[in-house]
Amino acid sequence: MTEAKKIGFALCVCTGKCPGFEKMDMWDFINRVRIELPVEYAFIHPQLCEEDGDRFFDDYLREDRKYMIAGCAPTMQYKLFRDAFKERGLDVKKNLVPLDIRDMTTEDAFQLVEKTLKELGAE
Ligand code: SF4
Repeated sequence: MTEAKKIGFALCVCTGKCPGFEKMDMWDFINRVRIELPVEYAFIHPQLCEEDGDRFFDDYLREDRKYMIAGCAPTMQYKLFRDAFKERGLDVKKNLVPLDIRDMTTEDAFQLVEKTLKELGAE
């Protein structure tokens, strides 16, 4: 797989207290993604849209990578993360693959990630 097709995966959980994540077991979900799917790694972040999220992105983002973030709606993610991506020389529309997994079960969210990775050619 080329560098451009390597995908880092993050689950953003709105502090872990948001009702939108009550139907899933976030630990089962993230472990299935990191073990069963073709991602470089997978982790949970509590709140990427806060100030420390910007600092995290500043340390973490690489130009040769795509990032799939499962969390809130894509339109929100594009808006919330645009500046942090731009700071690191990335185009949020190109380098971010945002997935809305709120109100999904563990299985439904897993299947959405699996399907989207296939569409991106990450096998
Ligand atoms: S980026 Fe979205 S999912 Fe993550 S904490 Fe902010 S609103 Fe919640």
